[in-house]
Order: sequence, then structure tokens, then C-alpha cells
Amino acid sequence: MTPDTDMIDLFVIGGGINGAGVARDAAGRGLKVVLCEKDDLAQGTSSRSGKLVHGGLRYLEYYEFRLVREALIEREVLLNAAPHIIWPMRFVLPHSPEDRPAWLVRLGLFLYDHLGGRKKLPGTRTLDLRRDPEGAPLLDQYHKGFEYSDCWVDDARLVILNAVGAAEKGAEVLTRSPCISARRENGAWTVQTRNEVTGEIRSFRARCIVNCAGPWVSDIISNVAGANSARKVRLVKGSHIIVPKWWSGQQAYLVQNHDKRVIFVNPYEGDKALIGTTDVAYEGRAEDVAVGQDEIDYLLAAVNRYFKEKLRPSDVLHAFSGVRPLFDDGKGNPSAVTRDYVFDLDTTGGAPLLNIFGGKITTFRELAERGMHKLKGIFPGMGPDWTETAPLPGGEIANADFESFLNLQRELHPWMPRPLIVHYARLYGARIRDVAAGAMNMADLGRHFGGNLYEAEVRYLVAREWAQTPEDILMRRTKHYLHLTPAEQQAFADWFNGSDLARAA
Ligand SMILES: Cc1cc2nc3c(=O)[nH]c(=O)nc-3n(C[C@H](O)[C@H](O)[C@H](O)COP(=O)(O)OP(=O)(O)OC[C@H]3O[C@@H](n4cnc5c(N)ncnc54)[C@H](O)[C@@H]3O)c2cc1C
Repeated sequence: MTPDTDMIDLFVIGGGINGAGVARDAAGRGLKVVLCEKDDLAQGTSSRSGKLVHGGLRYLEYYEFRLVREALIEREVLLNAAPHIIWPMRFVLPHSPEDRPAWLVRLGLFLYDHLGGRKKLPGTRTLDLRRDPEGAPLLDQYHKGFEYSDCWVDDARLVILNAVGAAEKGAEVLTRSPCISARRENGAWTVQTRNEVTGEIRSFRARCIVNCAGPWVSDIISNVAGANSARKVRLVKGSHIIVPKWWSGQQAYLVQNHDKRVIFVNPYEGDKALIGTTDVAYEGRAEDVAVGQDEIDYLLAAVNRYFKEKLRPSDVLHAFSGVRPLFDDGKGNPSAVTRDYVFDLDTTGGAPLLNIFGGKITTFRELAERGMHKLKGIFPGMGPDWTETAPLPGGEIANADFESFLNLQRELHPWMPRPLIVHYARLYGARIRDVAAGAMNMADLGRHFGGNLYEAEVRYLVAREWAQTPEDILMRRTKHYLHLTPAEQQAFADWFNGSDLARAA
């Protein structure tokens, strides 16, 4: 066992969006922070979301006005902080009179446009789907539609960027290191982690724990910390499918289903479409969540009701499923359970445990800030709020203007093919200079594994972003798994596992 006897301020359990966001915020206030994640960063729910930074149009029907307003405000804050991994998207909503009257949709969109201090994003417009090009892929029976704005985000990278930001402010980030026990002793916590790769057990003394374990939040409370909470988490499964994109244009679609749910049909990774989601009550282990054939059939049927092109199960290239860790507000219908977050601060024995229930990708920054406000009494000397105007790593882009940034990168790297520059600029923003460090031509990027994957990027991800396995690289740090053939992915894995990088990781 390695004793880390120095007292740290904050021990954060969970390397999803909320844990990474809390660690970054707290470290930037001058607190001594350790973050532990049992698997890879973002391996839980935070890489399996619908990848939208959005107010949540449908939550208006559940009268969640405060949540929608705050999330709408947060959209533009995050757009400025990370314009490389977050960008505006227009959503076309074909009007389906059987599902909702036009006046209700119009009212919802009016509120959506005006609730949240919209500055950069364009407002709603009405479409004539028989004339406007956005209507071309839709069935002729849909005459009228609406188009509104939200934002797209690379969810897993948002987690990584927060972890990088936390580390740059002095936090220690441990991956593949579950917290195996936490005990209150003499007004502080003694916390143990076990490194699943090396077997090393580490022990920390911490003044406070923040439990950001998402779907595992209750498990941490009762089984790891031996504590109690009157609050409960409600697990709701949601699945997505990936198919080849079949329409032209960058717009997404939002279609209404007969059960009053809405399904997103979003352009994804250039030539693909991401379709989701479902809302299914879930009671199993969060690790075991998997897409059901019934969910795939449900999503395909909802989409086929609207588009001329008919999707078949054989069109599904990939599917993934995640578990929403919702705060259990006692609502029966999984779609109606609140998407808001709730703090539960347990100060027993002078060793605080802050449990977090719920919290969307969109609201992570604000959640972290409010969580730190809850701990003001414990850390009276900590620094002020700072994340609202601070760029995330790589987001140091003048005026958050990604297009000008991209043009500049083209001038700086005239030897790089355009798709590769776009790939680096999108994933790494201003850190592109570190990924392609010192490279003057394609040969300098090292071995090529297919698509846009070169050795230089792999080395960067291992050195700077805690990547340890081929899957960390192909599926979470990047989405190369969608662009490399199975044979290329296998060849990459063989190379990686036999290289100095696997040993270093
Ligand atoms: C289908 C679906 C679609 C969604 N779409 C959107 C969307 O479009 N926009 C949006 O804003 N939100 C969306 N969400 C919600 C959002 O994804 C989640 O609310 C958010 O990712 C939860 O983050 P988290 O950090 O709380 O949990 P997680 O990401 O699950 O992180 C918790 C982490 O804790 C770790 N952990 C557990 N036990 C331990 C332990 N003992 N020691 C150390 N670590 C541990 C886990 O491994 C995990 O990585 C969606 C969710 C789902 C499921």
C-alpha cells in the first residue's frame, strides 16, 4: 500500500462529466483535489448521451421552466468555452397534427427562444416543407415544420477536457482506480483506491468527498462510504443507433412519436446519423446495460414514419446504450422523471460527503459551481467562481470563432490533408500544436493506421489524456472506431499492445 498521508481537500469519486467538472472547478479555486475513476474517463453514462448541449425542448411540457432556462443559458457559455467540440446545430421539427397541435409547438419554441438569453444562436423559423430544402427527405404528408437551434457536443471529449483542465490546475487524476473504501476518522475521510492494472492500493486523507458516481451514486453511499441518504437514484436506460446518413445538409431532425416522446435524428461524424433515444426503466447493474432489439425496432419505426427513405435493421452500423442517473422524484413514467440535479450534503462527524443525484452533460459546469457553493462553509478560503468565462483546454480560440481558427490552421499546416486538419482542429482545438508537435510533413506524424489515425495522435493521447487501451483511443478520446475497418482496428490494437505505449500506460 502507498500511504498518501498529506491531507487533501477534496476527493472526487467518478470520472464522468460531473466528477471531472467538479474536480476542475475545485482545483481552480486552489483546493487540493484527487479524482478517481474506476474504469476509463467517460466510460459510464457520459460517453453514451445524445450529445446535445440543449435546454431540452420537451421538458417544457413537464413545466421544468427553471431547468430549461438554466440549460439554455449554459448552451452559450459552453459554446464559448469549447467551440472546437461544441457547435450550433439546427433542428427541423416536422409538424405532426396527431401528436401535438401547432399552437403548442409554436408556444414551446417561443419560450425556448426567449427563456435563456440567446445571443449567438439563431432563433426559430417556420418551414414550408413542400418548398424548403429541409423538407426534401420527408414524406409528402408533412407540409409544415419548424426549425430551431441547439448545440452539439462530443460528450466524451468534454469529460476529458475537464479532467485535463483539473490536472493543469493541480488535481491528481486516477483512472482504472475504483474507490474501494471510505471511512470517517477524526473529522476527515480515509479513502482507499485500487489500481486495477497494477494492483496498487493507495490511501488518502481527505477533508471532504464529492460523490459523482452517477448511476453508482447510491452504491458509493451505502457500500463504499457506509453512509445513508434519504434520496435515491432512478436508473433509466436510453439507447442510440448509428446508421449511414441519408439526407443532404447539416440540419438535424426531431420527430414526434405517437407515445408523445420525441426522437432525434442527428448528422454524426460526417457521413453517419445518430438516432435516439429511448426511455426504459432499468434495474440491473449499470455496467451491463445493453441495447434491446425492441429499442432498435422502436427507433426505426419512429423515423420511418417521417422519412421517404426507409431504414431497416440491417442499416444499423452500431448501437449503444447508457443509464441516466436521475434523481428519483417518485414519478412513474421514466420520461417524466425530472432531469434536474439534487445535492445531498451529509456532514456527519465533521467529514462531509456531498452526493450528487442527476445532472445533465449540459449543466455540468453550473452543477460543479453550485456544488462548490455548498462547500463554502468547509473551505472558507477557497477561490471565487471562475469557470463561466474560462476556456476549456483547446478552447483558447479567438472570439470562439472556429471557422477562422480552422482557416488559420490550414495556412499553418499546408502539408496536412484537409480532413486531417479538421479532425485535429475539432478534437484538440488550440492544442493541435501539441498533437502535431514539431511535425513538418506527413511522415513526421508516424505510422498510419487508417482513416485519420496516425501515431502522433496516439502518443499525445497516452501522454496527455490518460489513454491506456486501444478502446480508450478508438471509442472515447476519438471516434476512429466509426471510420476504421475492423481489420484496421485490429491491426492498430495489435500494434498498440506490443508497443512501448501499452507498457507506458
Ligand atoms: C441515452 C441518454 C441520452 C442523454 N442525452 C443527453 C443529452 O443529449 N444532453 C445532456 O446534457 N445530457 C444527456 N444525457 C444525460 C447525461 O449523459 C448524464 O446525465 C451524465 O452523463 C451523467 O454524468 P455523471 O458524471 O453523473 O455519470 P457518469 O458519466 O456515469 O460518471 C460516473 C462515473 O463514476 C464511476 N464510478 C462508479 N463507481 C466508482 C467507484 N467506486 N470508484 C471510482 N469511480 C466510480 C463510473 O465508472 C462512471 O464513470 C443523456 C443520458 C442518456 C443515458
